[in-house]
Amino acid sequence: HVRVRFCPSPTGTPHVGMVRTALFNWAEARHTHGTFVFRIEDTDAARDTQESFDQILEALKWLGIDWDEGVDVGGPNGPYLQSERGDIYADVAQKLLKAGYAYESYSTSEEIEARNIANGRPKAFGYDGYDRTLTDEQRQAFRDEGRKPALRIRMPEEDIAFNDLIRGRIEFKAGSVPDYVIVRPNGDPLYTLTNPVDDAMMNINVVLRGEDLLSSTPRQIVLYQYLIKLGIAKEMPLFGHMPYVMGQGKKKLSKRDPESNLFLHREHGFIREGLLNYLALLGWSIGAEQDVFSMDEMIKHFDVRDVKANPAHFDIDKAIAINAEHIRMLEPQDFLNRSVPYLHRDDVVSADSWDALTTREQRILHAAAPLVQTRVRLLGEVSGMVGSLLSNAGYIEPEADARKQLKASAGEVLAKAIEVLESASSDDWKTDTLHELLTKALVNEGGYKPRLAFGPIRVAVSGRRVSPPLFESMEIIGKDVTLARLRGLQN
Ligand code: GLU
Repeated sequence: HVRVRFCPSPTGTPHVGMVRTALFNWAEARHTHGTFVFRIEDTDAARDTQESFDQILEALKWLGIDWDEGVDVGGPNGPYLQSERGDIYADVAQKLLKAGYAYESYSTSEEIEARNIANGRPKAFGYDGYDRTLTDEQRQAFRDEGRKPALRIRMPEEDIAFNDLIRGRIEFKAGSVPDYVIVRPNGDPLYTLTNPVDDAMMNINVVLRGEDLLSSTPRQIVLYQYLIKLGIAKEMPLFGHMPYVMGQGKKKLSKRDPESNLFLHREHGFIREGLLNYLALLGWSIGAEQDVFSMDEMIKHFDVRDVKANPAHFDIDKAIAINAEHIRMLEPQDFLNRSVPYLHRDDVVSADSWDALTTREQRILHAAAPLVQTRVRLLGEVSGMVGSLLSNAGYIEPEADARKQLKASAGEVLAKAIEVLESASSDDWKTDTLHELLTKALVNEGGYKPRLAFGPIRVAVSGRRVSPPLFESMEIIGKDVTLARLRGLQN
């Protein structure tokens, strides 16, 4: 039975790398009918924030990544907030100390550096193992000076190797990893202790995380070996390290890059299906020819051993193209429901939920939905598409590039169109009939090329060069508003 975990530190706004980690762990759990544990690693009081914690939860909920055990839902291995597990860490630290797997270390960082220099090593060589062999008397002498010890893990004098699920065999030479601190002199436990202890006590057997954590794996393997000997851990978990995500210019995508910010993508109008699909492609693929898939399909096919070890590239254009495909697959009403908050944000409609809209707004959006849904790539683009349809204004000042498109013949075209449309009956005010009437008058009889004939009308009706289809738009806004807009542009 696979047990995986997602254990972010709440120190910032949710980012692409973090969410990819959550997604792959979730997919692994769901594919194997295993258990997905969600724990929060909030042991760094100086950097952790409630806001970040709330945002991580909000992100998972928005994306529909659910968990079986952990924060919010509870479970048999809680608490799932590390800040509430202090007694557990203190107890395990004491057991490690008593067994000799950890030892008290009184060296200050200045002393460690000074010894490195004195012994011809680089200053930043790291810890030299000095306190490993302190006698009781020496320790007592330090204590009498008022010093408090850190606890360090005693690394074995042997190579450490493991088979990474994604990268194959990985070896660390004996002596390459110094004895490391697990508890600070003030008693605060560090990530180096809390993370493997929790994985052990929560029976995690597959650890799937980013490549940036590869260097902590030999430390954790050693600590795990000790925990197994102490009866605290059952078995060594399997490890898999997912590839880095690269941003522009062959640089690692940083948490602070705007392209990394999950909520910014949501603001632009990524829907969760599109974003998840794209994030899934950061290191994994469902098949050579298939880029677009649902989470059900991902769960069906996901296998962590298929994740690629080489760096993934974050390509925003591809992400947007995939999002467009998922927008097209939404039920029309679902598309509208999800668009309304964006429309409201952009001051295009009167309320932020479908049910609270006016009947007029609902009618127009219903009519426009099929035209718009096939044309937007992000929900943030819907406002620009439907704004002119929803507006009651007679005249809309065209966008600058729409104005530029107008040719010298625009005036004649508008005059002719107004003449034809004024005499159109309400029965004629239908997409197809409007198309026929104007084609006949302007193209067949007037001799204008279609682009010259319909360009000015489009600019008058929508104010934009790119807009929902013209004749549909005219039907939706009705005769009076259409004529008012044509006259407005004419003047
Ligand atoms: N709290 C750690 C982080 O956010 C988790 C690392 C891990 O998955 O082991 O980076």
